[in-house]
Amino acid sequence: MSHAAPFYVTTPIFYPNAELHLGHAYAVTVCDILARYHRLQGDPTYFLTGADENTSKVIKAANELNKEPRQHLDDIVSSFKALFAELESSHDQFIRTSDEKVHWPGAVKLWNKLVEKGDIEKRSYKGLYCPSCEAFYTEKDLVEGKCPQHYIELETIEEENYFFLLSRYTQAIKEKIESGELNIIPQTRKNEILSVLKDGLQDVSFSRPRTKVPWGIPVPGDNAQVMYVWCDALSNYISALGYGSDDESLYEKFWPANVHVVGKDILRFHAAIWPGMLLSAGLPLPQNILVTGLIQSGGKKMSKSLGNVISPKELIDEYGVEALRAYFAKEISLFEDGELNRESFKASFNADLANGIGNLTSRVMKMAESNLDAPVVIPEENKVWSEEYKKAFEEFNIKKAIDVVFESIKTIDTAIQDTQPFKVVKTDPEKGKALIADLVIRLYGVAQHLAPFMPETSRKIQEAIASNKMPSESLFMRKD
Ligand SMILES: [Zn+2]
Repeated sequence: MSHAAPFYVTTPIFYPNAELHLGHAYAVTVCDILARYHRLQGDPTYFLTGADENTSKVIKAANELNKEPRQHLDDIVSSFKALFAELESSHDQFIRTSDEKVHWPGAVKLWNKLVEKGDIEKRSYKGLYCPSCEAFYTEKDLVEGKCPQHYIELETIEEENYFFLLSRYTQAIKEKIESGELNIIPQTRKNEILSVLKDGLQDVSFSRPRTKVPWGIPVPGDNAQVMYVWCDALSNYISALGYGSDDESLYEKFWPANVHVVGKDILRFHAAIWPGMLLSAGLPLPQNILVTGLIQSGGKKMSKSLGNVISPKELIDEYGVEALRAYFAKEISLFEDGELNRESFKASFNADLANGIGNLTSRVMKMAESNLDAPVVIPEENKVWSEEYKKAFEEFNIKKAIDVVFESIKTIDTAIQDTQPFKVVKTDPEKGKALIADLVIRLYGVAQHLAPFMPETSRKIQEAIASNKMPSESLFMRKD
């Protein structure tokens, strides 16, 4: 038995400027699967998600809707929470960076640590600024002189900012990543960040004048400035655990994070700026940064202009949330860009869920209900976890883990074909019943291992086994 170790997993905090899309749903689901797995292993587990709210875009959007910014944020955050509930997200906390009570003390404490270390400096700054990204760019980031995200002309802005002297930490961050102490998964992303580090990190603008950004966390000791996104947003991973508050017990228990799950577009923030801040503050670094790919449709990024957008809501309404969770785990490789389109979704649903789990459950439980006098009691030795599956989870490879489950579904199907218990039971009832009981035990194994991925399906199968009844309706109805 491995010793139960605390497990802390985080999603990025999401920007409240648009409706959540499949990419957000994917990040939440990946973290939820990891969290559920660790809870089932008996590990004390903490799963954090939230919203990145301190952006002047919120004010602009609220004005356009004729709403108070606070009300606008509350409305968006409720819609986030509603979707996450539909996704069966089991997060322990939803942090909001506009929350003065929960979030701000941690951001302030972290800022002050960097000041104590002598790593914050006020400078006059001239830079190229994209108002849509709310970010500064250097010449080499630009695409044909324009914002690499928005392809618009950038504004040259000159202002007083506090700077974080990130350049001091280039070497230390490089060593942590090379040694694997800060493990970047997959290797391709690790190589990518190491090549950024090879060029050396620049000091980063760490605040904005309040006159330009009226919304945000005041810089300690200077009310004319508010924190820029780095200390404002990245600090959520520790402020959520009470860092900087009267009670830091969660922080003591769960930090450093086992894994930050991030998209490739925010790799640099998490694998360079964030570790630099933590090193400056003398705090431990996260153990792993798991960088996921994008979900594409028809081989292209989903976008309104291409007309290939599929919303999480649409799939949940048509197929149920567990089908979406299964697709994310099984059909998206996690480490590369993945494909999701209506045809691939339907094909996978029919093959793996309707004909796979659904059909297997019906067949086995029908035989059990018709032939066994009492529910099968699952022996303790049949409740152990597959080593291959556990190993896959240790590598965060949820696709490999769910593949183990689907392999076993195939194996059980084959066993039914080979042993024909429905025939045997008529000529040799004792032997037939033993074969059926064995199938029920193996079906239990499927349910057990499905639990992190498809908690509701797992529960239904376990209930069918415990009551020795075929589910009253098929778990997944084939779609034509
Ligand atoms: Zn931009």
